[in-house]
Amino acid sequence: MKVIVIGGGPAGMMSAITASQNGNEVILLEKMERLGRKLLITGKGRCNITSSLPIQEFIQNIPGNGQFLYSAFNNYTNTDIINFLKSEGLEVKEERGKRIFPITDKSLDVLKCFEKKLKALNVKIEYNAEVVSIKKDLDRFEVELKNGTILNSNKVIIATGGKSYPLTGSTGDGYKLAKQLGHTVTQIKPSLVPFEAYDKKTCKELQGLSLKNVGIEFKDIEKNKVIYEDFGEMLFTHFGVSGPTIKNIDELLKNKKIILKIDFKPALSEEKLDKRILRDFDEEKNKELKHSLDKLLPKKLIPVIIEKSEINPEKRVNEITKQERKILVNLLKNFELEISKFRPIEEAIITSGGRY
Ligand SMILES: Cc1cc2nc3c(=O)[nH]c(=O)nc-3n(C[C@H](O)[C@H](O)[C@H](O)COP(=O)(O)OP(=O)(O)OC[C@H]3O[C@@H](n4cnc5c(N)ncnc54)[C@H](O)[C@@H]3O)c2cc1C
Repeated sequence: MKVIVIGGGPAGMMSAITASQNGNEVILLEKMERLGRKLLITGKGRCNITSSLPIQEFIQNIPGNGQFLYSAFNNYTNTDIINFLKSEGLEVKEERGKRIFPITDKSLDVLKCFEKKLKALNVKIEYNAEVVSIKKDLDRFEVELKNGTILNSNKVIIATGGKSYPLTGSTGDGYKLAKQLGHTVTQIKPSLVPFEAYDKKTCKELQGLSLKNVGIEFKDIEKNKVIYEDFGEMLFTHFGVSGPTIKNIDELLKNKKIILKIDFKPALSEEKLDKRILRDFDEEKNKELKHSLDKLLPKKLIPVIIEKSEINPEKRVNEITKQERKILVNLLKNFELEISKFRPIEEAIITSGGRY
């Protein structure tokens, strides 16, 4: 059978490999000048390939109802992708949070495995081949490229990705193509998307500060209720906050005033944090407050915390009162930023919805 795969991201490349291994004649159409452009930027260029968690936990981590992915996850598991990469010569390693990365820390090496396999299977790849329409006539498909070329096949696989990071080629074309074939496409939404905070001054001061182990909590101000909590990495940007811990909560945010509460020291209780601060102060009693928190906090955070505490930054630490320490502890455990809005889908890590 002749199979056309549209889109040369990880999904399209793997579909082309599988279709070819099953004895089909495969053409892979990619609208960019190379394959896997989004794959190259994943995991900050290191590609977080998969996780070693059990499949049931994959499903629990999908926002909304992830059960519809049960059979896909079971048909091709985390072990399968690891074994595929190993068979192409790439070893992997496990990092904190059960995340799996290539041993070389390079997403390019993951892409090379796919390209190697496609070559070995003689899959025909067309670059700069943007599909603009698909027509179905009985059991034949007619696929039209932007340059006017018409290709025919028995089967078509649409693997055009989502709508985020459009410069990588993912511009949401697949939704339009699926509609042309009569599929219903549900509303698409940004997921894992950065958001803006009202307090731009604080964000500008903290811009670029990347934190590895923080606790976050989204709180509905009106109901005084925590609606989402997580633990992990985050990054301050000039407009707000971004990072893997900030998952899609837009459903929950409708018509609500939301505060993001950050716990900069989740491993320490308030009591333990107070003792730790006291110990640091005791070691250098005559130091000014502004010079005394560098063992505990990243440099960028110190002036922000001191300003918010309203304690004189030049005050000697042996003059800091118990009450002032309490204010510092409270700021470090309950740092608050009010969310003004989410950034657009183009900046999301993932597109959710759309199922066709
Ligand atoms: C900054 C960032 C970091 C990420 N980090 C990770 C990570 O560490 N781990 C992880 O698992 N996921 C990560 N992701 C998500 C991951 O990149 C996507 O889930 C993945 O790329 C989806 O693969 P795909 O093949 O479905 O789509 P894509 O990778 O989007 O590929 C779709 C391909 O289709 C092509 N195409 C589109 N329209 C057409 C058309 N009309 N004709 C022909 N070709 C077309 C595109 O050019 C593109 O090459 C990250 C995403 C971003 C943005």
